[in-house]
Amino acid sequence: MDDTLYGSRDRRGHWKPHEPARPAPIFDWPPRPLAVLRWLPSYFLPWNVFFLITAALVWYFVLPGPEVTARLEWGWVLQLFLVNCLMVLALFGAFELHLYVRRAQGRRFKYNPEFPADRRNPAFLLGRQNLDNALRTFASGVPIWTAWEVFVLHAMAKGWVPSVSLADHPVHLIGLALFLRFFHEAHFYAVHRLIHTPFLYRWVHSVHHNSVNPSPWSSLSMHPVEHLLYFSTAALHLILPSHPLLAIYQLHIAGLGAVVGHIGFDRIELGEKKAVPTEAFVHYLHHKYFEVNYADGLVPFDRWFGTWHDGSPEAEARMLERYRARKAKLAARAGG
Ligand SMILES: [Zn+2]
Ligand SMILES: [Zn+2]
Repeated sequence: MDDTLYGSRDRRGHWKPHEPARPAPIFDWPPRPLAVLRWLPSYFLPWNVFFLITAALVWYFVLPGPEVTARLEWGWVLQLFLVNCLMVLALFGAFELHLYVRRAQGRRFKYNPEFPADRRNPAFLLGRQNLDNALRTFASGVPIWTAWEVFVLHAMAKGWVPSVSLADHPVHLIGLALFLRFFHEAHFYAVHRLIHTPFLYRWVHSVHHNSVNPSPWSSLSMHPVEHLLYFSTAALHLILPSHPLLAIYQLHIAGLGAVVGHIGFDRIELGEKKAVPTEAFVHYLHHKYFEVNYADGLVPFDRWFGTWHDGSPEAEARMLERYRARKAKLAARAGG
């Protein structure tokens, strides 16, 4: 398929979409109800519905009843861990296999013209990006995700935190389900800003940014401290009256959803004529420029706090101006 219909490459071969990225129009002022209506399907499809389905499957088929989860025993904990591993392997692995191993659509729609190099690099565990990324995912990422999941589900079963049933509180739970993606974004933005402070960046978050040219396996390739903070999004369900299914959904948005920003391609081709958008562009720009797009672009946090990059030349100019101003400030401080 011809990717120049949707975007173009610069002189260095980097591809970007013609259309700049846009936060959800529900935050626009004055309100734009028609734009909101047009945007609405993209809120649900494909990702939020997909994670709600995976969460429902886990809740229904994998998670035992509260009489079991009220006891901390290895059986159900390991079962949950194994299923989380398998889901990550299937989802991240499918993108990696299709786009990076088989290279089924070549470089079409790929932002970075290069594929991640498979040469030794001392920045990575065992010297290889993919090995390092997979190790960090399965030895630290999924265990910490599962630990948060177990903690919250156990607390719910014990009655330490309020949990409510869909039959009794349908409006509350549906409202909460719709709110969770926004909460995820707020929590991710706050954690992400925090770990970009110099000390935490050096010791914690630089691990994630080692994958300068990320692939799907980079999604959960983080330092354990970052995993601990990143998955603490589940703590919301220790505060608000919630439901086990929604706690699992929240962790699937974070755990499985991490892949969305690391696909590296703007669209996935389905046959000759169709290419579906991935929503990867905003976080791709974060990996490219580091100090832009701390959130994923659903809620305009970066626009509100001056770090938004939508891929346009104007955003590029604003970013360079910001860098210049900071450099001048640092030089003045050093000089004075
Ligand atoms: Zn990333
Ligand atoms: Zn970062």
